[in-house]
Amino acid sequence: RAKGNGRNCVALFDIDIQRRAQEHLARATGLRGALANGEIEPHYQPIVNLGTGRVVGVEALARWRTSSGELISPDTFIALAEEIGLIEPLGQHILRTACRDALVWHQASPAPFMLSVNVSPRQFASGDFASMVLTALADTGFPATCLHLEITESALMNEPSVKTTMGELRKHGIKFAIDDFGTGYSSLSSLRRLPVDILKIDKSFVSGITTNAQDRALITAAIDLARSFGLTAIAEGVETQEQLRELTGLDCDLAQGYLWSRPVAAEKVADVMENVGKITHMKVSPMRITR
Ligand code: C2E
Ligand code: MG
Ligand code: MG
Ligand code: MG
Repeated sequence: RAKGNGRNCVALFDIDIQRRAQEHLARATGLRGALANGEIEPHYQPIVNLGTGRVVGVEALARWRTSSGELISPDTFIALAEEIGLIEPLGQHILRTACRDALVWHQASPAPFMLSVNVSPRQFASGDFASMVLTALADTGFPATCLHLEITESALMNEPSVKTTMGELRKHGIKFAIDDFGTGYSSLSSLRRLPVDILKIDKSFVSGITTNAQDRALITAAIDLARSFGLTAIAEGVETQEQLRELTGLDCDLAQGYLWSRPVAAEKVADVMENVGKITHMKVSPMRITR
């Protein structure tokens, strides 16, 4: 564009680059300050056992609550944190906070209470990832056997150290989930290569389960695959009773989604856990059966 239109546009183009560089710097500075000021915190979304209707744990999802009270989505700041080398301290902060919060729910729960934490490829590739995780567990007292780490398929690729790190953490009982399963292009080979315990079926398939035969076929295949590999299947992004009914029919183990709850702040988790039972109960209510 700049080239075709002569000198003025070249100048405009430079200004554009400069402006964007300044914006980027401002956002980077903002994010660093936010982490330092405690504005980054995990929210929690319950994970539900479809057989019992009970909450078996939560996924921690990072949120940035700005000083003006605005809540910023991780889709914007996680990528930025990775880019500016902030993902390691940010990820460590989320993990430690989540372990501390989840210990309370674990202690109050009659059954083991799982905490699932997202890990970015950059964190995983860092040399001291395993010791960072083990230190967080030791310092907070959260049991290693109840911690799940979620990694996307892209993180699992071409990284020989990943397998070693996973092996070390698994010795302590930590479990690994492949997040957004089905969206990457290495799903099957990563299952063969790496010791994972859980498949999280991406919400893009779940959203089509009742309307799109291909989505339904993919979910069926993923659940079958999980079963034959001895893994647990978790469906992400369940929003409707119809989707829940389909997944239950396919014998999916666990699920999470707005149907039960959006991710909420730590202080709201106890209330949410109480409500989940009521929602799952709806599937056997007379209203549903007469449909
Ligand atoms: P993810 O790990 O695949 O998380 C699931 C996303 O789906 C979350 O978005 C969650 O809020 C959203 N979700 C849950 N249920 C529903 C539903 O029923 N419908 C719809 N439409 N969405 C639903 P969120 O919280 O915005 O997180 C986006 C992504 O950011 C996460 O995807 C994860 O990859 C990343 N992320 C979040 N927290 C962290 C973190 O602490 N560390 C790292 N490295 N990545 C994180
Ligand atoms: Mg996740
Ligand atoms: Mg996911
Ligand atoms: Mg995702």
